[in-house]
Amino acid sequence: MNKSEARARILELRDVLNENSRRYYVDNAPTMSDYDYDQLMHELERLEEQFPEFKSPDSPTVRVGSDLETQGAGENAEPSVRREFVQRPHRYPMLSLANTYSIREVEEFAARAEKTVPAGFSYCCELKFDGTAICLTYKDGKLLRALTRGDGVTGDDVTENALRISNIPHTLTGDYPPEFEIRGEILMPYDAFDALNRERAENEDPPFANPRNAASGSLKLLDPDEVAHRGLMCILYHIPAQSGLDFVSHYDALRAAAAWGLPVSDEMRVVHGIDGIKAYIDHWDSQRRFLPFATDGIVIKINEMAYQRALGYTAKVPRWAVAYKFKAEQALTPVLSIDYQVGRTGAVTPVANLQPVQLSGTVVKRATLVNADQMEALDLHEGDWVYVEKGGEIIPKITGVELSRRASGASKPVFPEVCPDCGTPLVRAADEAKWFCPNSDGCPMQIKGKMLHFAGRKAMNILIGEATVDQFYNLGLAKTPADFYDLGMSQLLLLEGWKEKSARRFLSSLEATKAVPFERVLFALGIRFVGETTAREIARHFGDIGTLASATKEQLLEVPDVGEVIADSVAGWFKDPRHLAEVERLKADGLQFSVEKPAENLSGALEGRTFVVSGTFSISREGMKELIVLHGGKVSGSVSGKTSFLLAGENPGPEKIKKCAALGVPVLSEEAFRALLPDSGPAVHANQEDIEPTLF
Ligand code: NAD
Repeated sequence: MNKSEARARILELRDVLNENSRRYYVDNAPTMSDYDYDQLMHELERLEEQFPEFKSPDSPTVRVGSDLETQGAGENAEPSVRREFVQRPHRYPMLSLANTYSIREVEEFAARAEKTVPAGFSYCCELKFDGTAICLTYKDGKLLRALTRGDGVTGDDVTENALRISNIPHTLTGDYPPEFEIRGEILMPYDAFDALNRERAENEDPPFANPRNAASGSLKLLDPDEVAHRGLMCILYHIPAQSGLDFVSHYDALRAAAAWGLPVSDEMRVVHGIDGIKAYIDHWDSQRRFLPFATDGIVIKINEMAYQRALGYTAKVPRWAVAYKFKAEQALTPVLSIDYQVGRTGAVTPVANLQPVQLSGTVVKRATLVNADQMEALDLHEGDWVYVEKGGEIIPKITGVELSRRASGASKPVFPEVCPDCGTPLVRAADEAKWFCPNSDGCPMQIKGKMLHFAGRKAMNILIGEATVDQFYNLGLAKTPADFYDLGMSQLLLLEGWKEKSARRFLSSLEATKAVPFERVLFALGIRFVGETTAREIARHFGDIGTLASATKEQLLEVPDVGEVIADSVAGWFKDPRHLAEVERLKADGLQFSVEKPAENLSGALEGRTFVVSGTFSISREGMKELIVLHGGKVSGSVSGKTSFLLAGENPGPEKIKKCAALGVPVLSEEAFRALLPDSGPAVHANQEDIEPTLF
């Protein structure tokens, strides 16, 4: 890999990891398995080692994944999750753990320890509890504060909620120190998790993917009574070295904590040497399925505090500990057939149709085969029985073939030579793992993929799914994103499956795109290799689309983080007259193509009014906020005397409603709000007195 390819891949990996970290920590709705996430993280670590010139203090390799909601909660977050926790600094940073899935790397960890630490030291082996981290401070025997890990430096203050977790003592017993910090995990046991998901299914709320996400989401609920109802529990596993606490070993410290009445695991063991570690791992690899809560591995810590202090920490992890993670559960099932899917960039991905099989609580019917090389590496033959793995809500992956079940005479599947969608011969660059359909502006799958990418949540956030894009495309109504803006209410109502409500939602989400900043518009255009971060850098550097379109490759290379591959891709994209024509149409539709240009207001209907937005709406909450701004209003995060209206969707925060009642702030439903906007009737100016408040 040359320098510019490495740079492009590093940026791509950072984007993917940051986005998935947000889904995992903030939305509590991961879409990638932990294993895949960890593999991408290890790839990024290796590339940053190999190309140190691209190291960055912002890289996810050196930062602890953050659960702080600085960018606003995602769409999947529970509506009743609190947004406004007080954030407080940690006295000692809360870090992550180095992790591995390989016993060989655990052996290497032990070998390094034996070289560095004087003989006779021990390890403390513990379960790796799969929940969300918490830091408790006790003062004079009383729980003073509970902070989440946050970004490792600052955490959310969740004391009120922690006080409602039944096994966290409010008051200690015995000979406890006057003030100290102790850390551990908040967990949701399986039976509480099942009960919660049953309740959510009855209320038609989306289920939590796993107990970890449920625990993490529940710890940040608005209502401490609801937290108490969720059946969370706590297990503590670390007392940071702090003045006044002189324990010889980590194990002694935790036994002392247990004597003060704190919940500590009975399963930790002090062992000597790698054989002791392996015996502990072997035992729990099989026995963990009988535990009442989720664990995702084993943590191995050097036990003596003096040696822990001597080894210290990196910016992200302690050097005296390692987590050995268990691999996800596997299932064995036969491949029935293989589809070759064409993505928006033209990349062809083989996907196996499987005989349906149960895996981690769900039925799996399809699994990705990644690319032709992976099929080759698996040595896949037709009808093979394959091992499938899954985690979170991801597309399952085929990880191996069971050779003993291969039918005699089975042949290898033939990777297509032409695009399965448009018939164009596929191409593969020497350094690419994937085959591509080069017919980027004529291949139906690519055209539809580009429209879906444009509409995506991180791009323009238009309320449209795959089925609708298919419908528009098949009827010849949309072949490029600019075509969306030509569709009107009357035309939509003629289409099968469209009702006034759905049409209105779609058109409102289109209208809201006019406030989307240039950098996201640029990302939405779907230029190959231009991810979110690169789009931001390019938008900031050139300022507007005209300057960017006429930039030479050399000028593009001046942008931080843009190398040969990206520069060629961007310059090539702007040479195509069809792309320039598309940009002109989108410009005429009112999208932002310059960084300076402030959002042009659509009306002044909401001028002088401040809104607080709470609950879920027919479009995303961010979209509602954009609409308010586009019509001259202001948005604020919390209800105060200055709030004109609370705009409340479904399940608004009960505390906000209470506060509105106390302050006499009117509560508007989405419908009443839309009636204020000029496009849904004669323009009206919002006066508090004119509005019939909706009562909840
Ligand atoms: P981690 O979960 O791998 O390990 C560190 C954490 O383990 C600690 O913060 C602590 O909360 C916990 N822990 C549990 N038992 C412990 C014990 N006995 N002693 C010490 N700590 C214990 O690391 P992380 O930084 O919390 O999260 C990173 C991991 O999260 C990644 O490796 C990945 O697996 C996962 N992740 C997944 C996605 C995704 O999209 N699937 C995204 C982001 C992160």
